[in-house]
Formats: sequence, C-alpha cells, structure tokens
Amino acid sequence: MSKRDYYEVLGLSEGASKEEIKKAYRKLSKKYHPDINKDEDAGEKFKEVKEAYEVLSDDQKRAHYDQFGHTDPNQGFGGGAGFDGFGGFEDIFSSFFGGGGRRRDPNAPRQGNDLQYTMTIKFEEAVFGKETDIEIPKEEQCETCGGDGAKPGTKPETCHHCNGSGQLNVEQQTPFGRIVNRRVCHHCEGSGKLVKDKCTTCGGNGKVKKRKKIHVKIPAGVDDGQQMRVAGQGEPGANGGPPGDLYVVFRVRPHEIFERDGDDVFLDMPITFVQAALGDELEVPTVHGKVKWKLPAGTQSGTAFRLKGKGVKNVHGYGQGDQHIRVKVITPKKLTDRQKTLLREFAEISGEVPDEQHDNFFDKVKRAFKGDQ
Ligand SMILES: [Zn+2]
Ligand SMILES: [Zn+2]
Repeated sequence: MSKRDYYEVLGLSEGASKEEIKKAYRKLSKKYHPDINKDEDAGEKFKEVKEAYEVLSDDQKRAHYDQFGHTDPNQGFGGGAGFDGFGGFEDIFSSFFGGGGRRRDPNAPRQGNDLQYTMTIKFEEAVFGKETDIEIPKEEQCETCGGDGAKPGTKPETCHHCNGSGQLNVEQQTPFGRIVNRRVCHHCEGSGKLVKDKCTTCGGNGKVKKRKKIHVKIPAGVDDGQQMRVAGQGEPGANGGPPGDLYVVFRVRPHEIFERDGDDVFLDMPITFVQAALGDELEVPTVHGKVKWKLPAGTQSGTAFRLKGKGVKNVHGYGQGDQHIRVKVITPKKLTDRQKTLLREFAEISGEVPDEQHDNFFDKVKRAFKGDQ
C-alpha cells in the first residue's frame, strides 16, 4: 500500500503553521484513539496520524519531507538504538565549490565536521534527565604522524599537480567557447600536499577511527526529536583548526500509560460506572509518583481533569506542565445473577430515562423530526 501524504493525513495544506499541525493532531488522535474509537481501522488511522505528526512537527524532518517526500524517511535520523544514526554532516562551507569558485588556501585552518548521534532514551529519562556516558566512533588525529599522514622522519611534499594550491584548472570546449573551471585537485584531494611515505598507523590520511567515551547530561524535560549540541566533540579540524561539534538527537520511547504533548502529560484512566456515579477517592499515577485525587460524583465518561504542575519540567526552564486525566467509564461485561438483579432493581427505581440530560436529548429528537412530517 502506498503511503498517504502527511499533510493529507492531517487534513492540512503544505503551508500549515505549527499551531495548525498541533491542533489537527490533537483532534485526529483523539478521534482515532483505539481506546475511544472501536472502528476496525481506527488503530491504523491513529498510527498514520501519529507518524504524520512526528514528521511535520519536527522542523528538520518536515523540511526533509517537504523536499523528498516519503522516499527516504530515515535519512539522517537513524533507526534508533546503537550507532545507526551516526554520520558526519556535510560541511558545505568548507566545500571547495562554495562561494562561486572562490580561491581557498588549502593550508588555512579548517574546522572539523559536525557529528550526529541518535540516542534512544526512556520516557522517564526524558522527563527527569540523566547523566550517562556514550561511546561514539570518531576520527581522531593520528598520534604516530601528528596528523600529516607522513611516516615519522619524513614530511609531506607540495603537490606538483596543483603547485600546492589544492585546485586545478580544467578547460572545457563548449559551443560558447572555452570555459575554465576550477576543480579540487584529485591528486592531493585539495590538501595541496602529497605524502610519499605514508604513515602505517593511519594509512596516510592523518586520522584514525576510535571509539570515544563522552559524558552526556540529558537535560530534564527533553522531548522526542530534540537535539543537544556538545561543543568541540565533532571531528578534528585540519591544519590546526578547531574540532566540529557533536549533536545528540534524542528519541524517546513511548510510555505504557503516559502520553506526552510538550510539557503536558496525558493519562487515560478507566473507572467503573459505580465510581463515575458516586465519586471516589483514587490514587492516580503521575510521572512524579502516585497522588491522591477525588473523582467527583456524576462524572461522565470522557471528561478530562487537570492536575496542575504534575507534568514535565520545561527543558528551557519555562515552568512546569500539567497532567491531564481522561476518565473512561467501563461498562461491565460479565455480571453475576445477583449483580443483574440489583441493576434491574436500580433501573426500576430510576425509570426508563436516567436524568434530565436524557430528557433534553429526546426533546431535541422530537423537534428534529417534527419538520419532516
Ligand atoms: Zn594537488
Ligand atoms: Zn598517521
């Protein structure tokens, strides 16, 4: 089955604002939530809505989707755990083609490439933060040759193809005449130097792959898809330039009972119809532990209550989210004879219609059909 367009899934146009995307998601995820919607395909629809929202609510992923569509949703984001999400960013500013053929000194200090590391964390770790060590495969300057790639005791020579400039002029005959293009010298790969006797440790490129342990502080309140910059932990620079940065992208595993939207936490709580009618003192789980909570008498199924300040601490320090409890009245399926007898007795006392809301309902039905006759 081919995938539906994410904007189409959320019923939005391509230029939709972040607010519109959030709104559409809230509406549709409620509509298709498998606990609420018993249609056969509700689960699939719910998943589809969730996936569309995950992509469109993330600036980076949305830009990628806008450009490439469904072709390669995982590119640059990795598959979760391990080192799958690892890969150097292309540093376009150090590209020799940048700036319209501007000359660059190959010996000038250059900053190292940035690295990206995808880290999958638990729901609670995202809420409360955590300090941990990660190990990333990383290129380090080769210690044997000091990074120049030449065997100890020898030195790299100036590339005689490009005279050390790192660039070559390539002439091309075109219908408009001769055009001279400047290209990166492929003999020295733009470095302007050639290594005759290669260092045996690094094979001449001056860098060695190592696994490096890096201490990471996961900030409390971080959310799925957010990234954190660890300065100076990218690849080493060239010619004495500074190293790049490391970007840790967080993927947060879903929780079994809590759902998160920004700093707010949502909990679906099943209650019996007796509790709904009479009210009850309940213990409600929150991410901060259980809290005592009073369910008011006469609560309708689907009603949402708010526990102020029981959500997630904002990652930027802007206060604290709330927890929302959505109660769902469960109708019992298996009843004993005694329970049935008591319920029939209850129905007899109550009459056919349970309360004034029902009366209103039947009044409206009557009015609605009057016009037709
Ligand atoms: Zn060269
Ligand atoms: Zn070396």
